[in-house]
Amino acid sequence: MRCAICGKRFMSGCKVSHSNHHTPRRVEANIQKVRAVVNGRRCRIQVCTSCIRSNKVTK
Ligand SMILES: [Zn+2]
Repeated sequence: MRCAICGKRFMSGCKVSHSNHHTPRRVEANIQKVRAVVNGRRCRIQVCTSCIRSNKVTK
């Protein structure tokens, strides 16, 4: 999933065990479906919560 405003997707990294074994992992961005006003019309878009909090979407 991708944020419709900033394009944020996920952070990738490694799960590191105590024996220093690295396993790839990804942390998804906190993306919510919101009803927002886009180009004067209401529609449902998928937006990350940092964009919602910083008022980049008009509800
Ligand atoms: Zn965003």
